[in-house]
Amino acid sequence: MKKIKKIKVKPKFGLFLKILGVVFCIFLGVFLFYYKQVNDLKRLGYSNMAAKNILFSFQKNYIMSVGENATLNAAFESDDFVVDNLDTYRKIDYVPHKHFIKNINQLVKVGYSVSDMNIIFAHGDDEAVTRFSKREKVRYLEEFFSVDYAKLDLYDRYVKYSDDTGEDENVTVLFVNLDMDLPDYSDSKLVDKFSIDMLVNKHHHLSEDFVPDDLITIDSEYASSDDLQCSHIAFNAFKKMSEAASKEGYQIVINSAYRSYADQVELSDVYLKSYGQEYVNKYVAKPGYSEHQTGLAFDIGSRTVNVFGNSKEYQWMQDHAHEYGFIHRFTKSYEFITGFRSEPWHYRYVGVDIATYMKENNMSFEEYWALFLDQ
Ligand SMILES: [Zn+2]
Repeated sequence: MKKIKKIKVKPKFGLFLKILGVVFCIFLGVFLFYYKQVNDLKRLGYSNMAAKNILFSFQKNYIMSVGENATLNAAFESDDFVVDNLDTYRKIDYVPHKHFIKNINQLVKVGYSVSDMNIIFAHGDDEAVTRFSKREKVRYLEEFFSVDYAKLDLYDRYVKYSDDTGEDENVTVLFVNLDMDLPDYSDSKLVDKFSIDMLVNKHHHLSEDFVPDDLITIDSEYASSDDLQCSHIAFNAFKKMSEAASKEGYQIVINSAYRSYADQVELSDVYLKSYGQEYVNKYVAKPGYSEHQTGLAFDIGSRTVNVFGNSKEYQWMQDHAHEYGFIHRFTKSYEFITGFRSEPWHYRYVGVDIATYMKENNMSFEEYWALFLDQ
């Protein structure tokens, strides 16, 4: 019988296997430890990428003590992360800006406090904050930006307007946001989309060829002359209002509604010849700057009294126009903001919600627009 030779593992090879085993165990241990650490952070709300960077920069304990924090998450995801600013990141309210972390670093360099920075990020988009972060530290930050809708990009104009006029921050921000620090009819914004809440005034204009989307001819029973036109949606509201008024014994009628750019040119010329420039400036909007071109404005009359402001219909409109979506656009109390003298006859359709809000809060359309509609 042949003797079977026993295979013997060479001692050197055995040692190698043992080392391999130990190394494998170490790796497995490290991996499991790492996996658990990443998961701890992810459970707190950090992204995978942020969690890894937190571990590799040895900040896990700090983060665990802070807990969930969107700005810290963004910081650890960012290439702009600066470890010295860690505590600052923690205290800044998160905003979804592309250059958020870079801008925090820059604002720290300029010398802003955490509360300043929170104000800055709350009042501008990414581009506006980036521009702002490149300038020297400014004064009066808290003052102007205590007004919610103050805009970072308008800072210099706030300072100038307030210095020039002595107005407080509320008036300053309102007027500058409405471009009322600029001369009438200059650098005005072009409004090109028809909507019931569009603002047209001495700083917001329509192009020569702007026509309301839903222009119709007004049924002659509602108007004092034939072929008057207006926006369909505004007319439907007027009809309802007129019928309600009529039931209570009040007779309102449309004297003027949609006016094209060319109509306004003609009208301005007529008034200029009869009454002169000063009158035109106060009462007649420049072509492109008249609300009548939107199709949403009506000059309303009474069928019984010539001077509308003296009629019982005017009183009825004061109490009820908002219920149908109309606002008395140029009142005595808003003269300083609309730039037009009181016109008891001029009503503007803005829809029931806005009209009711304005009525309840005693507000001009300019103020409403600056607060809620300005983008
Ligand atoms: Zn009018």
